[in-house]
Amino acid sequence: MVRISIFSIVCLSFFTSKAQTSSAPFSVAEVEARTLLLQHFSQPIPVRSWESEDDTVASWKQWELVENFSFGKDRGNIPMIADLQSLHPYFRDKVLELIRQCRAKGIEVAIVETYRTPTKQNEYKSMGRRYTRTRGGYSNHQYGLAIDIVPVIDSVPQWHNIKLWKKIGPIGERLGLRWGGRWRQLFDPGHFEWTGAYGTYNLAQGKFPSIPRSAQYPCIDEDLKELRRHWKAWENAQSALAHQAPNRLGLKIPANKHLNQGGNE
Ligand SMILES: [Zn+2]
Repeated sequence: MVRISIFSIVCLSFFTSKAQTSSAPFSVAEVEARTLLLQHFSQPIPVRSWESEDDTVASWKQWELVENFSFGKDRGNIPMIADLQSLHPYFRDKVLELIRQCRAKGIEVAIVETYRTPTKQNEYKSMGRRYTRTRGGYSNHQYGLAIDIVPVIDSVPQWHNIKLWKKIGPIGERLGLRWGGRWRQLFDPGHFEWTGAYGTYNLAQGKFPSIPRSAQYPCIDEDLKELRRHWKAWENAQSALAHQAPNRLGLKIPANKHLNQGGNE
């Protein structure tokens, strides 16, 4: 229930405007269906809350997290954010549609990671070139425009199930997403992204690509402003933790080195 309320707050004006207009692209039923989808697919393995209970509750603190090895892979020791609310709204809707279409074909997918802080990106980079060559600030995950997913059968992640990836990848591509399964170097079939015509340089300058059918996102500027605040809050929290407790996190590099550089695609 918490998830519904947060989601409602983030996109209240968007959904309200959709629900009230007869020509709106999304009906009330559709919004409800999306909310249910969101609930269903954003329940990764729960981990501890980031802050202690007496902290003022801020919605960013309630984003879903997953811990290392939750999906059977070493993903570093800083928790991953795996919450669809952390994504750019336009991209998030594409992801929801990707999940819906996969499901319609009988493929369940789990969300591994959505927004990623620069600190987390740098942790991946510190884990070696097999993981990523991208430093913090230069992955599209840092702009809410990329996601990592994995198909799941009987609760077992299917990282090496090429047959399934070959079904999932093209679904994403038909939705206009770039698929990491096409990459020769660092083949990354769980990765999907959308940046419009933008490159990382533009994103790093603080710009977002303009979105097609922008009328469907009447509160996009406010949403993005809010998202940026949340992203910043997460970066501050993870960066502080990485510096203060590198041993507890088991970081493989000294916390005062490399952390402001770049990770997984
Ligand atoms: Zn990725």
